[in-house]
Amino acid sequence: MEPLSHTTVGSESLEDWRVVGSGGFGHVYKARHKDWGFDVAVKLLHDGVGCQSSTLMPNDKALCDEIRHMVKASCEFVLRVYGFYEGNTPLTKLSMQKGIVMEYMGNGSVQTLLTGLPGPLPWPLAFRLAHQVALGMNFLHSRDIMHQDLKPSNVLLNDDLNAKLADFGLSRVPTSALNSNRELTGEVGGTYKYMPPEAFGISYEPSRAFDRYSYGILLWSILTGKEPYTTASYELVALRIPQGDRPPLAEIKQSKAEGLNELVDLMKMCWNENPSTRPHFLDCLKVTEKVFSKHKKGIPDAVHEVLKTLESANSTQHPSVSLSFPPQMPEHATSYDTVDHVRFTQV
Ligand code: ATP
Repeated sequence: MEPLSHTTVGSESLEDWRVVGSGGFGHVYKARHKDWGFDVAVKLLHDGVGCQSSTLMPNDKALCDEIRHMVKASCEFVLRVYGFYEGNTPLTKLSMQKGIVMEYMGNGSVQTLLTGLPGPLPWPLAFRLAHQVALGMNFLHSRDIMHQDLKPSNVLLNDDLNAKLADFGLSRVPTSALNSNRELTGEVGGTYKYMPPEAFGISYEPSRAFDRYSYGILLWSILTGKEPYTTASYELVALRIPQGDRPPLAEIKQSKAEGLNELVDLMKMCWNENPSTRPHFLDCLKVTEKVFSKHKKGIPDAVHEVLKTLESANSTQHPSVSLSFPPQMPEHATSYDTVDHVRFTQV
């Protein structure tokens, strides 16, 4: 395997570390690159994800492969990757920490909108997100890359709330870390809510149809401003989704917006239980582009309104913590509530 021509960023190049969040693969930080003069995001990977050796050269095959995938996927609607991170670990100062240096996205993710806004998104923004995600996914599939973990927290938002897809590289790492009980049962990220019925079986082969189903559920989240099955456990979702249940439609049916019905029809096609009937992203794009074009003019007001709401919500919370290097690991998110009630719809 040839050496990577990628930039390796060391801890000496970065300053002003701040904790951004954590997920199934590791912790994410924001840091200022001293020479580049702008902020980057650094995802430090948990031990055992991707790398075995102490240097970031070709024998770190899994991580290198994933970064190659991410580079191959360079596109406006896909998160940009600048290179590897290699430096002292915030956990044990004895070994080197490894990770990925990426474009920093100033407004979190679609998950931030779902949890940070009091109601659904303004339609122009919802329709733009639906379109940009379809553009990003179509690009990935055209480059033979499957995402396999499309969900709100993996659709990141820049300063203008434009969307870029993240985490598609790591989601392909075939390690026990990915398939661990913790990841599958959704302690982190709620991945299982976006998994198609066929993926709950034992002998599932990854396919593009997986991503098409996830897109259908993501569309529901974008259109309603909610997470599906908020209080459902993994066990309940794994039982009910293969039986044909899906998120409820009643609320969307009461809403009115030009083109909304077309998106709802698309959403239902995407989450169809038969993988072979789910539309390709190129076909999704035709619908999302048409719907978005009818609402484009409303984008500046919609973005302004959402940013103002997020800003006032943030100002009432604690400011992010500034860290000297090495940063301390944030407390890990632990549990998801078990079921008490859950809303499904039979389709
Ligand atoms: P999972 O690992 O299960 O997919 P996740 O997607 O929440 O869960 P991460 O991708 O590690 O986990 O992200 C953790 C947090 O960091 C999320 O809140 C995400 O919005 C944020 N984040 C990730 N990458 C970036 C980035 N490049 N810029 C800004 N914030 C980011």
